[in-house]
Amino acid sequence: MPALGRAVAYSCDFSEGKSMKDDLRNAKYVIDIGPVPSLPVAGSELRFPVGRIYCVGRNYAEHAREMGHDPDREPPFFFMKPANSIVQDGSTIGYPAATKDVHHEIEMVVAIGKGGRNIPVAGALEHVWGYGVGLDMTRRDIQGEAKKMGRPWEMGKGFDESAPCSALKPASAVGHPAKGAIWVKVNGEVKQKGDLSQQIWNVQEQIAYLSNLVTLQPGDLIYTGTPAGVGPVKPGDKLEGHVDGVGELAITYRA
Ligand code: MN
Repeated sequence: MPALGRAVAYSCDFSEGKSMKDDLRNAKYVIDIGPVPSLPVAGSELRFPVGRIYCVGRNYAEHAREMGHDPDREPPFFFMKPANSIVQDGSTIGYPAATKDVHHEIEMVVAIGKGGRNIPVAGALEHVWGYGVGLDMTRRDIQGEAKKMGRPWEMGKGFDESAPCSALKPASAVGHPAKGAIWVKVNGEVKQKGDLSQQIWNVQEQIAYLSNLVTLQPGDLIYTGTPAGVGPVKPGDKLEGHVDGVGELAITYRA
């Protein structure tokens, strides 16, 4: 069976035996699914290949409260978006399908450079390649319905073009930002504003928790949660995001 897909190539890394990844390096496929999803690296011709996108839920207390939850009682939890939901900085995108209530969630994004499982908090930052500014775009109406019915969030979160992200900057250049402003403007007006220091679970704790649930892989991204002030966007809106020391992100919804 020569036509194994990319997902199989990745999964082979979890076994202790000989990796099939090398065998598949030059594989020929029965259909073309385009290039590996990736993000630009600031100041470089090289790109960062995107494997999986994990997102942390309710990681800022004020946002947890605005969504009707008690931030003091919940361990971190995660959901996912497909890698090809990535949208590059500067893009103009369409208003998503099947929704009347798309919300912005501005988030710092962690790019994993070194994989691992059961990673201790103390060594977790060694697994970080760099950082970006992301938007966890959310079909809030579909997510709300899923919550009510006890169904998965994926169709509220993991839809087409749901994961805009800035060019990434390496930790070797920007360090590991643990405090500093994070905000998003819609049409020039600040809608969400917080500080990275308000995260309930910091980046190293997120990595440690997540790596107990799955084996982290190089290329994985973690969207680290959003501060309070989430709200709707409409066709024609321009979103500008910022994280101190990390960068800027601008995307526009087609009118
Ligand atoms: Mn989010």
